[in-house]
Amino acid sequence: MSFKTTSDGKKRVTLIPGDGIGPEVVDAAVKIIAAAGVKIEWDRHDAGESVFKRGVPSGVPQDTIESIRDTRVVLKGPLGTPIGYGEKSANVTLRKLFETYGNLRPVKEISGVKTAYSGRGIDLIIVRENVEDLYAGIEYMQTPGVAECLKLISRKGCEKIVRLGFEVARAENRKKVHCATKANIMKMTEGTLKRTFEEIAKEYPEITSNHIIVDNCAHQLALRPETFDVIIMTNMNGDILSDLTSGQIGGLGFAPSANLGSDVAIFEAVHGSAPKYAGKNVINPTALILTAVMLLRHLQEFDAAARIENSVFYTIEQGKVMTRDVVGDAAASSTTAYTDEIIKNLGKKPAKIHVRDYKPLKLPVVSSAPDFVKPKSRRDMGVDVFVETNASSDQLGKSLEKLAEGSGLKLKAISNRGTKVYSPTGAITDCVDHYACRFVLPSAEGQVTDAQIAGLVQKIGGQYRWMHLEKLAEFDGAPGYTKSQGED
Ligand code: NAP
Repeated sequence: MSFKTTSDGKKRVTLIPGDGIGPEVVDAAVKIIAAAGVKIEWDRHDAGESVFKRGVPSGVPQDTIESIRDTRVVLKGPLGTPIGYGEKSANVTLRKLFETYGNLRPVKEISGVKTAYSGRGIDLIIVRENVEDLYAGIEYMQTPGVAECLKLISRKGCEKIVRLGFEVARAENRKKVHCATKANIMKMTEGTLKRTFEEIAKEYPEITSNHIIVDNCAHQLALRPETFDVIIMTNMNGDILSDLTSGQIGGLGFAPSANLGSDVAIFEAVHGSAPKYAGKNVINPTALILTAVMLLRHLQEFDAAARIENSVFYTIEQGKVMTRDVVGDAAASSTTAYTDEIIKNLGKKPAKIHVRDYKPLKLPVVSSAPDFVKPKSRRDMGVDVFVETNASSDQLGKSLEKLAEGSGLKLKAISNRGTKVYSPTGAITDCVDHYACRFVLPSAEGQVTDAQIAGLVQKIGGQYRWMHLEKLAEFDGAPGYTKSQGED
């Protein structure tokens, strides 16, 4: 675990109060941590709206980056993503700058917060990959009417998130780990996570491991959320399903999270800056207080973390001093009154909830050097050329067959949004102006050369606008590409 301590024993943490309701919820957490007797030196820095307005396009200024490099630990309030200035979310920038590859989102039923699932004992944690997948945001307009987003999933990224999931299970004394993927459809991207999970699960024999298709996981979460313990997912699936599970225990006011990397940990509530409540002293600070509890465990302050968590659960169970989102406007107490009540209740335990015993989390050790997975054999045996045209698939196929003559490659198939349309299959397919044209070597031997591909593309380019190429390769004899629907 990476954190620094001052010469007089204080733990150093970068504090980003954030935008909107951020300063109020952060203040509540800082006050409670101090009351619990934990000595922290907070290094306060900005990020988000005020920084965008100063003209820093990333929303994260250099002094904030340097503080995080130094302390390695951050507690942050939500950051607004202003519309009209600043391109990318400063939250995502922070997570990516420090390669916080794992997002932990625990979800625990809180007695006193009435939901459709009250009494079921939900107590699970979603371990979501945080930097890869569609959320890398690598997008291209392929034609004026066809958009593309690249879903890049690496073996290394999967290994890190899978190991993190199992280590979280060990640290939290959990017995079951699920890996939820869409590997039945996306056999290569989602499939890499599934295969990595099945391989690494063998190193954790004391933990029951199960792969589950992610849509079935959503179904099971709606029906029987209490049967889950740890669920590992790729970025987008994890984003969606962790919001669903947050809703099952009372919503955004109760959802904490941690972004963990090999070097840096960033702790933040799941909710945003809720600008309409800013400065009104009405917001529920529980999510950020529970986030601070996760921070304290990261800083190895296990006793203080358990005391605060117990006090939060006790306070809510008592239900005497609650914010408006839980009890409505008429019976509501202010954010500060609720915070003071939690401080007053430090040392008390709830009757109906048991706070888990935690051990230090052992973060996976993965080299930061580039990862090169070396197959025993590799064969480039063709190329997909993506072409924009309003020609019919039949016209395009016949003309490409001619253009390929003499290139050493033959047209194998043309597909449109993943469905084979040439040679004709007899199916009724609605085509757009974006065709993937697959060219392969005529025999099962030999390698395609770059010169062959360049020659072919030049000929195609004389007649059609092409927008991208994908080399077709076999690794260890297995195809490194998928077939379109209907392709032999
Ligand atoms: P939001 O700020 O999370 O607020 C949406 C609604 O959720 C609020 O209006 C409120 O519902 C409820 N809510 C949120 N936090 C609450 C709390 N602590 N206690 C009680 N209720 C709470 O989402 P948004 O309005 O979509 O986003 C606002 C800004 O925050 C945007 O700029 C967005 O980009 C940013 N954002 C930042 C982060 C982050 O920093 N990690 C995350 C998400 C969004 P009611 O209206 O029903 O009372």
